[in-house]
Amino acid sequence: TDAHIAASEAARPLNAYITETFDLAREAAKASDARRAAGTAGALDGIPVGIKDLFCTEGVRTTAASHILDGFVPPYESTVSGKLKAAGTISLGKLNLDEFAMGSSNGTSYHGPVISPWKRTGADVDLVPGGSSGGSAAIVAARGVMGATGTDTGGSIRQPAAFCGIVGLKPTYGRCSRWGIVAFASSLDQAGPMTRSVKDAALMLTSMAGFDPKDSTSANLPVPDFSKALTGDIRGLKVGIPAEYRVDGTNPEILKLWDQGIDWLKQAGAEVVSVSLPHTKYALATYYIIAPAEASANLARYDGVRFGLRVPGNTLDEMYENTRAAGFGHEVQRRILIGTYVLSAGYYDAYYLKAQKVRALIADDFKKAFEQCDVLLTPTAPTPAFGLNEKNDDPIAMYLNDVFTVPASLAGLPGLAVPAGLSGDGLPLGLQLLGKPFDEETLIRVGGVLE
Ligand code: GLN
Repeated sequence: TDAHIAASEAARPLNAYITETFDLAREAAKASDARRAAGTAGALDGIPVGIKDLFCTEGVRTTAASHILDGFVPPYESTVSGKLKAAGTISLGKLNLDEFAMGSSNGTSYHGPVISPWKRTGADVDLVPGGSSGGSAAIVAARGVMGATGTDTGGSIRQPAAFCGIVGLKPTYGRCSRWGIVAFASSLDQAGPMTRSVKDAALMLTSMAGFDPKDSTSANLPVPDFSKALTGDIRGLKVGIPAEYRVDGTNPEILKLWDQGIDWLKQAGAEVVSVSLPHTKYALATYYIIAPAEASANLARYDGVRFGLRVPGNTLDEMYENTRAAGFGHEVQRRILIGTYVLSAGYYDAYYLKAQKVRALIADDFKKAFEQCDVLLTPTAPTPAFGLNEKNDDPIAMYLNDVFTVPASLAGLPGLAVPAGLSGDGLPLGLQLLGKPFDEETLIRVGGVLE
């Protein structure tokens, strides 16, 4: 814990933390020592971790990187962070993110952007860590914690993992409880681990996952010891390569790495088959209707009455207006506007209902593909990390980052981002494995061979 606190302090210029809880961590480490001495240690006892500031933590302020939650100190602990605590982990603090987890660069945080610990060779240019779990990715990469929680609605665990050269695992929707996680898009949000290795991700997920009666979409399934899946043996396994993921504009080095990944898996004894996911091209459009629609409903609760910020007005309506205008950043306001529009009478059928139908077709594509293979291999993101503020004025360019991660989110499937190589200018490049529902074990098995 002391060593990781020191590394986190050295990494302060990255702005990865919104709230440091180093003193609490030192206390917790002493309690952990005592448990170990008494032989009552938990599965992850004494392991220093960071918690994305979207998870409510009892007695520790939780911001969702938004001004609107100003001063909010939850009186309860999210199920997932509570489980990690129960396993003995030591939280070093609450990690920065895009406001309400909306973004792909960590550029929308009220608490300022996170800076990646990586730089292009020979260039002193600050790069984004990816988003929305940018603080988590950056501080794991900077060795400030051994693992961090992330949440992934459309790629927010996998894309920042790829940008920062770490492992990110988005479990199947329902695998980890959403209870106590600030809601963005409830039918998509899923918590998962971000770590230095696939084994660490497997260990962390084992402690995070499990049925929770407090989340009605939580899956009532046993939680395996995911680390046992790391057999190193993928002989006979069928790996599908979706033709539609060869999208224009993908960085050629990433396409090359993808081919290289196919070769690695073949050499390890896997069989590679080509599969088709014909509705892939509609995934981004579908996601950017459904996610804002759900967000606009979820964010209605921030009214200046129940939580955080209140900006007074002469009437109740004026108080709502003033609070929400001052409390939400531009990207969040944009999502609320899109969401309200697509849900409004007259547009509901044309946009929201249509998007739900396309979502079903996308899920069906995956179902058919997985009749032919056990796992899919794709790139994680179409480019390596880009410069700070580079795409901030172009929301569409930012949304395009999610092209490879969003389809599996819409289908609720698990995805694992594994660092697999470096670009010519020294930046991490990642590959993504996608699996059948609740088959994280196969992802972990294959990921262990790829990393
Ligand atoms: N970048 C996507 C978005 O902005 C995904 C975010 C996420 O997964 N939380 O919606």
